[in-house]
Amino acid sequence: MAQTEKPTALIMIFGATGDLANRKLFPSLYNLFEKGKLDKFAVVGVARRSLSNEEFQLRVKESVKENGETEADIEEFVSKFYYHSHDVTDSSSYLALGKLAEELDSHYGLNGNRIFYLAMAPEFFGTIAEHLKKDKLTDVAGFKRLVIEKPFGHDLESAKVLNKQIRKAFSEDEIYRIDHYLGKEMVQNIEVIRFANAMFEPLWNNRYISNIQVTSSETLGVEERGRYYEKSGALRDMVQNHMLQMVSLLAMEPPIKLTTDEIRSEKVRVFRALRPVKGEEVNEYFVRGQYDKGSMNETDVPAYRQEEMVNPESNTETFVAGRLMIDNFRWAGVPFYIRTGKRMKAKSTKIVIQFKDIPMDLYYQPEKTVNPNLLVIHIQPEEGITLHLNAKKSGQGTDATPVKLNYANKGIDGLNTPEAYEKLLFDSLRGDATNFTHWDEVALSWSFVDNISAVWENTKEPSFPNYASGSMGPDAADKLLEKDGFFWWPITEIDVEKC
Ligand code: NAD
Repeated sequence: MAQTEKPTALIMIFGATGDLANRKLFPSLYNLFEKGKLDKFAVVGVARRSLSNEEFQLRVKESVKENGETEADIEEFVSKFYYHSHDVTDSSSYLALGKLAEELDSHYGLNGNRIFYLAMAPEFFGTIAEHLKKDKLTDVAGFKRLVIEKPFGHDLESAKVLNKQIRKAFSEDEIYRIDHYLGKEMVQNIEVIRFANAMFEPLWNNRYISNIQVTSSETLGVEERGRYYEKSGALRDMVQNHMLQMVSLLAMEPPIKLTTDEIRSEKVRVFRALRPVKGEEVNEYFVRGQYDKGSMNETDVPAYRQEEMVNPESNTETFVAGRLMIDNFRWAGVPFYIRTGKRMKAKSTKIVIQFKDIPMDLYYQPEKTVNPNLLVIHIQPEEGITLHLNAKKSGQGTDATPVKLNYANKGIDGLNTPEAYEKLLFDSLRGDATNFTHWDEVALSWSFVDNISAVWENTKEPSFPNYASGSMGPDAADKLLEKDGFFWWPITEIDVEKC
């Protein structure tokens, strides 16, 4: 957990000229600085191209400005940024970086604390970690921490190789594996909603909950990431990490304390209870989709197979829906449905907890739909909670009518994501690893996902492309729930804004 509230450290960002650094990391650091949350610090931007410190500082300033208002202190902020042109495979480059780090450490009084943030293509993660140790950048008087972006491996085997490489230089508690969903306000709120409310926790089990639905839909297509996405697909890009992480927070037992170790160990127990889906079961429990051309906001958009760097006969899925079963006392028999995809009707991440119907419906009327109680957690773009209840229709009679109780957090899209990075950066500086993924979670989620990819990679899906851009995915995703007597709650109709 937190070691100090106002951290001091040298932050080295590998990949400092990249998209992530520019769009998320610099603005997040500025916000922390502006809010007075940082004590003494300096930043070294590390990347391939050659830049002077001044040129780099200008880039940082521009990136911060693009993300919002800046104050007069922006000059002081960027004056703490230095640049090192780097070759990731060359020891002499690390030695020069080490020398710069020592100078900055003594100049700014940083107590030998170092954060190494790897915002680079994952193929470099292992090499960099090995060099950091070999070339003595990890020989520090203070703390040393490695913050590492996704994807953590491509499957269990490659994740193990990567983990072995980074463990040579960092212990498990010095490794901060980013899953930026864990930095989102409402994802962090799942635990509070569950464990701080007497009205939910007693009902949070298979006696009262009929099913849980987690949707994370995007309207964007693959954009310029075709080369990466062809090898990844939605299963690896979204399910292995973000979707399973949300499921683990929804399903975990209450931790005995709110410490990093206790919370992570309860999450790990969920992954251990997750029923493996193998061989022929894969197509019974999971549905894959690939977007076809279609219309988004009255603009024609191409099919996935027509995107840049994508094979015209690609078998890669851009959509996944699945039925997860957690075989423990609390959840036996309750399906957790997950669904994620690109080029869908709306951009939305939502969790719907559907409660079981009451034993006898006194207000039953033929031709009227049943209105089960729902708890909807809106993760993004809007943030909030909606509770769907039934109450008496005003006027004569005793008819029941659905009502919604809303709590809207703030719901300004665009402010959310930098904030997630802001929180995660601050946590890594403070030494709080709760909202980062432990190796055990990564390994268990890969072994779950690997069983599915093993089947999908070896069988071409003849129906691809099987959903139109701008839709909610293939029909088979609806049938997955229909088989169990359920349906996806339409994400637009349960919007917090519309209530
Ligand atoms: P990018 O391609 O925009 O940037 C890559 C950076 O790495 C550049 O600064 C480049 O100079 C540097 N680099 C590349 N090869 C190098 C070499 N041989 N030596 C030294 N430096 C080298 O990538 P990005 O979009 O910023 O993504 C970085 C990481 O963050 C990836 O792991 C990605 O999956 C992850 N990520 C990115 C986003 C995002 O929004 N961009 C979101 C989540 C995760």
